[in-house]
Amino acid sequence: MSIDTERWEVVVGLEVHAELATRTKMFCGAPNSFGGDPNTHIDPLTLGLPGSMPVLNEHAVELAIRVGLALGCTVQPSTFARKNYFYPDLPKDYQISQYDRPINVDGSLELPSGKVIGIERAHLEEDTGKSTHVGGGGRIHDAGHSIIDYNRAGVPLLEIVGRPDIRNAEEARSYVTELRAILVAVGASDGKMEEGSLRVDCNVSVRPRGSDELGTRCEIKNVNSLRSLGRAIDYEAARQVDLIEAGEAVRQQTRHWNEDDGRTHTLRSKEEADDYRYFPEPDLVELDPGQEWIERVRASLPVLPAQRRHRLATAAGVELERTALLVERGLDELCLATIDAGADPERTLTHAEHNLSDERATGIDPRGFAQLVSMETGGQLTATQAKTVLAEMVDSGEDPESIASRLGFEAMDSTELESIVDGLIESNPDEWQRFCEGDQKITGFFVGQVMKATRGQADGKVVTSLLNSRRG
Ligand code: MN
Repeated sequence: MSIDTERWEVVVGLEVHAELATRTKMFCGAPNSFGGDPNTHIDPLTLGLPGSMPVLNEHAVELAIRVGLALGCTVQPSTFARKNYFYPDLPKDYQISQYDRPINVDGSLELPSGKVIGIERAHLEEDTGKSTHVGGGGRIHDAGHSIIDYNRAGVPLLEIVGRPDIRNAEEARSYVTELRAILVAVGASDGKMEEGSLRVDCNVSVRPRGSDELGTRCEIKNVNSLRSLGRAIDYEAARQVDLIEAGEAVRQQTRHWNEDDGRTHTLRSKEEADDYRYFPEPDLVELDPGQEWIERVRASLPVLPAQRRHRLATAAGVELERTALLVERGLDELCLATIDAGADPERTLTHAEHNLSDERATGIDPRGFAQLVSMETGGQLTATQAKTVLAEMVDSGEDPESIASRLGFEAMDSTELESIVDGLIESNPDEWQRFCEGDQKITGFFVGQVMKATRGQADGKVVTSLLNSRRG
C-alpha cells in the first residue's frame, strides 16, 4: 500500500521507551534483569504494598543525563509525578513519571543522511509488569484468563519524545537505528528491541503537501521491530489518506499494529492528558543533579556516532552518507588511522566497505592496512590480489608483504608483461585485427590469455592500457 506522495505528506513523531541498564529498579533494590522465573525480581515496592516508599536510583539518573547530553538536551532540575491509570500490571495503579518538569529538554538527533530530528524531551519513569493472556490466541478479548509477571514492573525507563520532523518510514527506521546506537554508545541501554529494551510508539498523521498544519494523528503501539515500524507507518498513512479522500475524518486514536495481518487496529480513543490526573509525587523531592555532576558526565561521554561520521567524512574527503555503514560496523577508527598512516582514502574506504565484513577486521594493524593500500596503488598488487592479502591479514595478523610473497604475488616486471602482450598480438593476428577495429569484446580474450600466461598475476587494467598503446 502506498500513497500519492505528490499530493500527501506523512508526518511522524516517535516516542521511544528505553530500559536503562541499571543493576536495580528505578525506585527500589529489586534486580533489573531480563528473564528469570516469573515474579522473582520483586519486593514490597514492586508490588505496591502499603507503607513501601520509593528511593530514587542514582545510576538511572546518571544514565538519563548521559543520554540527555548525547542528544544535546538541556539537563534541568526536574520533578516526579503520578500518572494515574488502571494498570493491571503495575499494582499501585499509578506510574511514577515526569510530567511538566522532565530532566532533559530540547535536544536533537542527526540522522546519517545529515537531517536533524528535534527531541522535545527525555524523561525518567518506571516500566510496568507484563500480562500474558491465556487462550484465545493471546488477545485479551478472547482470553480465558490472564497471568501477570511483575519482574519488569519498576524497571527504569527513559521516554524519549521526538518532534514530528520525520517524513517517511525510512527516516523513522533510520531515527530508531541512530537512537539505539547512541543509547548503546553511552552505555545507557543494551538496545535490544527483541527483548523489549527499546519500544517504539509511533504518531502518524497526513496532510496535503504544502500545508503547515498538522493533521489529526493516531498513535500506534506495539511496534517491536524496525521492519514493523516501517510497515505500520506505510499502512497507517495510507489508511488515513483513504479516509480523507472518501470524505471522512481521521479520529484521534491509539491503534495497535498487528504483524500477522499487516494492519493497525483501534485500541482506544486517545485520552487527554487530564485523564491521567497527573499530580506531584509526594514521596520524592525535586531532582536537581547540579552543574558539577552534569559536567562530570559530559566529560565522560564517548565520541558519538554522528561525530564519528563527520570525522571520517572530513578525513577521507567523502560525502557524509558514505560513512554511515563504516561507523555502524565500527571500522571508522581503523580507516582514520590507515589514512593517517598515508594510505589513499578512497582505496581504504572501498576495502573497508567491501572486504572487511569479518568481525575481527576492526583489530587489524592500521599501518599494515596502509601498507597494503600503498602496494595496490603503487601497482605491486592487483585489486584482486590486494583483496586476498587483506583477507589473510584479518585471518593471520601477518604483514601484507610477507603474505604477498608467500602467495607468490610478486609484482610483474613491466618489460616481461610487455613481451607477453606483444607475443600474444603476434600469434593471434585475427583477434588483434578485430581489437584494432574497435571490437571491445575481444579485449577480454587478450586479458584472459595474459592472465593464463602469468597465472593471474597481471593487472587487468595495465594489460588493457598496454593493448591500447599498441593499437597505433
Ligand atoms: Mn511512557
